[in-house]
Amino acid sequence: STPAPVTVIGLGPMGAAMVEAFLERGHEVTVWNRTPARAEPLVARGARLAESIEAALGTNELVILSLTDYDAMDALLKPVAGALAGRTVVNLSSDTPERTREGARWVTAAGAEFLAGGVTTPPSGIGAPERTYTFYSGPRDAFDRHRDTLGVLTRPDYRGEDPGLAALMYQIGMTMFWTSMLSYWQAIALADAHGLKAADVLSHARETFASLDMFTPFYAERIDAGNHEGDVDRLAMGTASVEHVLHTMKDAGVDTTLPQAVVDLFRRGIAEGGAADSFSGLVELMKAGK
Ligand code: NDP
Repeated sequence: STPAPVTVIGLGPMGAAMVEAFLERGHEVTVWNRTPARAEPLVARGARLAESIEAALGTNELVILSLTDYDAMDALLKPVAGALAGRTVVNLSSDTPERTREGARWVTAAGAEFLAGGVTTPPSGIGAPERTYTFYSGPRDAFDRHRDTLGVLTRPDYRGEDPGLAALMYQIGMTMFWTSMLSYWQAIALADAHGLKAADVLSHARETFASLDMFTPFYAERIDAGNHEGDVDRLAMGTASVEHVLHTMKDAGVDTTLPQAVVDLFRRGIAEGGAADSFSGLVELMKAGK
């Protein structure tokens, strides 16, 4: 079938990569951006720059947004809400699940269908659906209608009708990404205090991150079964270990915000009586949100 025409609004690094992927696959692409200069390289490659945001909305049924957040969508689309009727708006900007639901509500009330997306790859992975994926949520029929077109960007992973679900999955990933990468910066700071470059510890860092792949399925099964037995690891042992980490950081004179937060969580687990349980018991403390 002929590739469907598509409008892309928002030409940051992500939006621009999306436009390029669509053009490469033969889609007609209409673009619009608050700062028009950003459209120039894309127009040179075959995209059409709409003369106004209303014109961008009016050209195609499928409208993809790639903006900083949902406030940016509101700022752009609320003044032209009358032009939304009959469109399918796919917002690939990230935000909280609540903020996503709120955006979905008013766009739907304006007469459009709304799909939320949570893109889990940087711009380099856009146009490579064989190795990258995006979470979608919202009306199933709208998703099915545009699945093939969205599949040009990344592999679509539909999570359900509640528009907040894609944002939830996105935030679950970000929770792990930001803290894991900060743990890496912490390790590099410690290495640097001892005259080692990032390159000197790179293979050790990669092996350490790769080893997490063995722990996640092991603990997932036990956590879902409510099993925090201390047969493989005990929180008392873990606490001694994270205190060694903290003291190593202090001795090195580097920032201790992150290791201190880790020690605090472990100590709270001990105070709650979990010393003989696995450190997976800390997940109960986190669930309780106290
Ligand atoms: P940017 O923040 O660089 O995108 C900026 C886009 O939003 C620009 O088109 C900008 O317009 C527009 N914009 C921002 N605020 C407003 C506003 N108030 N009114 C009108 N337009 C506005 O983000 P990226 O392109 O990097 O990412 C887009 C989305 O994708 C974000 O939600 C991000 O979290 C998510 N994402 C990004 C990844 C990445 O690696 N970059 C990875 C995965 C997800 P202007 O050009 O005029 O400033």
